[in-house]
Amino acid sequence: MDRLDALRPPAHTGDDRCRPCTVVNVAIVAIAALLLGRRRRGAGLAVAAVGLLVVWLRGYVVPFTPRFAPALVAASPVPDEWFGHERAPAPGPTEGLGDDVDGEELLGRLVEAGVLTADGEAVDLAPDFAAAWEAEMERLAALSTEALADATFDVARAADASVVDGTRREWIVLGDGSGDVDAQTWLSRPVAVAETAAATTLAGWLSDPTIRRAAAGPLRVFLSECPDCGTALVESSTMACCGGTTTPREEPDDVLACPDCDARLHTFE
Ligand SMILES: [Zn+2]
Repeated sequence: MDRLDALRPPAHTGDDRCRPCTVVNVAIVAIAALLLGRRRRGAGLAVAAVGLLVVWLRGYVVPFTPRFAPALVAASPVPDEWFGHERAPAPGPTEGLGDDVDGEELLGRLVEAGVLTADGEAVDLAPDFAAAWEAEMERLAALSTEALADATFDVARAADASVVDGTRREWIVLGDGSGDVDAQTWLSRPVAVAETAAATTLAGWLSDPTIRRAAAGPLRVFLSECPDCGTALVESSTMACCGGTTTPREEPDDVLACPDCDARLHTFE
């Protein structure tokens, strides 16, 4: 098996096997085998056997499949869930507890309140705030996901909060009470811990809850460890796996992510 494993790119097989890539490739192999098999049965069978073996080993047989298969599948009328895609937006700097405030204004308010220190171009967390935020993250990380969802609901601008068990992780889903999926925000545990702790801790520095919620997301850029499991965060690209982006995008993002939780904490602009 060692030799087989060496042939397998881990990004496209095993747990990370991309179902859109696999489905599209198996379909292409089947069509090629059928066309050939109509003229020479042996050739058709050989193509089917070799093609399926390569898909199994490498994740795909057609070059550049990861670039087009997710888009192809997204464009198809078949529900995304059939392909193992969870309908969850990748948390970005402006997604989160519900408020969006102009970046310049937000930075000004946070520096003024003593949450951040600004020295020329360099901006950092003020040590007092950093310590308080960290302590609150530690407290929340110890909670069950249900209890964490309750704590997140308390600080978010949302009408309901629920826990959804995904294929790889649990999500805390904030909604507007209508059940409309387009109005939902999906937070992984690490993101929920970071943002809820930030919004709660900021109450000691800022009186305006709109600013507190708006600041919770952008503050994630200052994290160096996963707020949920403590693993050092790594800078990587969503290109690492074709299934890495939950919504098909044209360009991969550079992200700050926890390799253990497989969760994105920040997306670099
Ligand atoms: Zn983690």
